[in-house]
Amino acid sequence: MKILVTGGAGYIGSICVEQLLDRGHEVVVFDNLTEGHRKAIDPRAALVVGDLREPESIAAAMRLNKPEAVMHFAANALVGESMQNPSKYFRNNVSGGIHLLDAMVENDVRRFVFSSTCATFGPPERVPIDETLPQRPINPYGESKLLFEKILRWYDEIHQLRFVALRYFNAAGATSRYGEDHRTETHLIPNVLKTALGQRDNVEIYGVDYETPDGTCIRDYIHIIDLAQAHILALGVEKSAFYNLGTGGGTSVREIIQACERVTGKTIPVVEKPRRPGDPPRLIAGSDKIKGELGWKPAFQSIDKIVESAWAWHQIYPRGYED
Ligand code: UDP
Repeated sequence: MKILVTGGAGYIGSICVEQLLDRGHEVVVFDNLTEGHRKAIDPRAALVVGDLREPESIAAAMRLNKPEAVMHFAANALVGESMQNPSKYFRNNVSGGIHLLDAMVENDVRRFVFSSTCATFGPPERVPIDETLPQRPINPYGESKLLFEKILRWYDEIHQLRFVALRYFNAAGATSRYGEDHRTETHLIPNVLKTALGQRDNVEIYGVDYETPDGTCIRDYIHIIDLAQAHILALGVEKSAFYNLGTGGGTSVREIIQACERVTGKTIPVVEKPRRPGDPPRLIAGSDKIKGELGWKPAFQSIDKIVESAWAWHQIYPRGYED
């Protein structure tokens, strides 16, 4: 298939691009390169530098390339930043997304895979979080993604735009060529690995007084290759659907740091800090729906294997792509 990938220069997008190309798909990346990196784009893909905030920019790319499907990763995705600057999140993640959908409808492109998030649920009544739980986000990032999920339902009903929304839990790990390099790094695993590389003095733990066994937040870390696999399966779906996507295992912040110590063989100094606003204590995915309906099966179940792949990449690219 010919697939237009927005945000294909970002962490998750770039690895989906690589995996799509490896399976023989043709890929056009649409990215404004503000967060992503040119070097993260597989050379087998075509690149359109454009901005979703400008309707004509995406409309022209759609007209010229006539893809059969769109995968939409381009978005701002930092919980903390969204609590400071909600406007940025609603403009880019909601308004920008509408420009994309309109360009699709105008050009009769009706297959869509959306990068959504477990942050649409907010603190859950129970874990694992399956698709039946109510969505009550507690930060503008999660709210912006939930709004876009709702918009998708209407484009499906009115414009027959078939979508699959994948609500990821914590994407982690790397392939041998592509990995995680955010311009502002707030994510746990890269921050711990940068400490192991000696680029940071310590890792800050945001909150040690949560109601969890060791007091730190629990997340469900899913390997990026397993995530990409779910996107590829989603391309074949005929009926619009929402799927939660994680491995079903919970790992605390302290357990991540311990895993990084095991994998890197280094001692990682930590500093305990107050809670970060907007962080739910425990997020674990219930992924039975996607397993049952699409036959998705995560290959990486162990946190050490996930961290090993990230560490291998960080050792090759210690300063990221721009070095
Ligand atoms: N975290 C931390 N120190 C860091 C980065 C993150 O303690 O330097 C915590 C964060 O508060 C959360 C967990 O690690 O509980 C995962 O955070 P991350 O930003 O990686 O992903 P999120 O769950 O926010 O999508």
